[in-house]
Amino acid sequence: MSKEIISVKNVSFTYRDSKKKVLNNISFTVNKGEWVSIVGHNGSGKSTLTKLLNGLLIADDPKNSAIYIDQLLMSENNVWKIRDKIGIVFQNPDNQFVGATVEDDVAFGLENRNVTRSQMLKIVPEVLKEVDMLPYKKTEPQNLSGGQKQRVAIAGILVVNPEIIILDEATSMLDPEGRNEILSIIRQLQKEKDITVLSITHNIEEINKSDRVLVLNRGNLLKIGTPDEIFAEKTLIEEAGLELPFVYQLKEELKRRGLQIPGSIKTEEELVDYLC
Ligand code: ADP
Repeated sequence: MSKEIISVKNVSFTYRDSKKKVLNNISFTVNKGEWVSIVGHNGSGKSTLTKLLNGLLIADDPKNSAIYIDQLLMSENNVWKIRDKIGIVFQNPDNQFVGATVEDDVAFGLENRNVTRSQMLKIVPEVLKEVDMLPYKKTEPQNLSGGQKQRVAIAGILVVNPEIIILDEATSMLDPEGRNEILSIIRQLQKEKDITVLSITHNIEEINKSDRVLVLNRGNLLKIGTPDEIFAEKTLIEEAGLELPFVYQLKEELKRRGLQIPGSIKTEEELVDYLC
């Protein structure tokens, strides 16, 4: 049976300086190794939700709500243990660097963690290799491209062996090539290390390739389901501010012309193969 890595029960949240609830009684679970896209219009509460998951924010009514990360209940006692399990990659790579070189920057994540110098010298090149950045270890981060910067940011997270990676619009400032590179690295990590991925994204192709999609609208969880389940509901697509992926548009057009395409076909390549 798959293991539950995230469990959110009846969570609401209000920022102290405003009276408006920005998350309203949210409940869902995520299994280890899943890729869940978090979608919704700006201001729907996506970032707030991820901040609750790593304890940067605390839910409104802790007595009647709960967040479990890898079986640990979010609480003052557990918050540091929980943060060790979650790595976050943000939108703007330039705001994330602390080291003068790529290897210094990645090593920074290991400081204050009782890691010896010789262990550090072993771990840092290993993770740089995983993101294909070993040749750049002596480079100053500001001299890298946007995609390379995000790969270094991922390496900085991998040094502490996270269970969960949160992508907070991490590819939105990249060109398509950089975006695909980052997504394929994360996909590899998901497969090889069984890392769970939560990705706040507006990228329709990424959403289509996720295991499940969580739709937020004005602080309410409208639905969490497979891309097929989400894209089957027209009103949900509108409420989430999404457009139908190209392959689904094609399938709809073919259906109008009397050709029923199996639900298992999810990419343009699969559709072309099926039709040929
Ligand atoms: P999203 O990530 O979906 O764009 P956010 O979680 O950033 O949404 O924001 C949800 C709501 O909370 C918005 O109405 C936003 O204006 C409000 N908000 C976000 N951060 C703060 C804050 N620090 N103080 C007060 N309100 C905030």
